[in-house]
Amino acid sequence: MTKNIQGYAILENLLNGNKDFVNGELSILNHQVDTLKQLKNQQHPNAMIFTCSDSRISPEIIFNCGLGELFTIKTAGLAIDNNVIETIEYGIEKLKIELLILLGHDNCGAIETAKKYYPQKGHFDSLVNGIYTVMTSATISTDDLAKTYTKSLENTLISKSDIIKAAIKDKNLLLIKAHLHHDTGIVEILE
Ligand SMILES: [Zn+2]
Repeated sequence: MTKNIQGYAILENLLNGNKDFVNGELSILNHQVDTLKQLKNQQHPNAMIFTCSDSRISPEIIFNCGLGELFTIKTAGLAIDNNVIETIEYGIEKLKIELLILLGHDNCGAIETAKKYYPQKGHFDSLVNGIYTVMTSATISTDDLAKTYTKSLENTLISKSDIIKAAIKDKNLLLIKAHLHHDTGIVEILE
């Protein structure tokens, strides 16, 4: 079994957890203080989730996971800066995590902000500048723009980080783009 296949196995587990969430069958395991005690001196998360700071997106809940399972990074609208990149690099190099999910979502406030102000500067610049890179004057729905932006982040990360680029090339990291639907709870994998 190659490490690339391992990444897909972890993804399958998370998507099964998402089905549990969608079906109202959360197992609520490993949410106790005892779990924290057991993990006091180490962590071995299975996956990194880079998603929006939006209060409606809780990766542990939507993937039916417990404490210690997910290494999570959140910024408004999945804005990328050096802190985000080095956090992902930490997950790759120090925690040996083999799956990274970039998770955008419906009705994203940061995406709506970018649509409102494009192409002006001066309004939450560090949040909307990345979104602006995939925008044109053509009309597009907020949700479609969110998906387009999420998909663009793969190349952004590869271009800004030799560590991320090498991890993907060497099949030590599987990078998946995804989109959360608020009306169903379903995590859709983006091609
Ligand atoms: Zn958002």
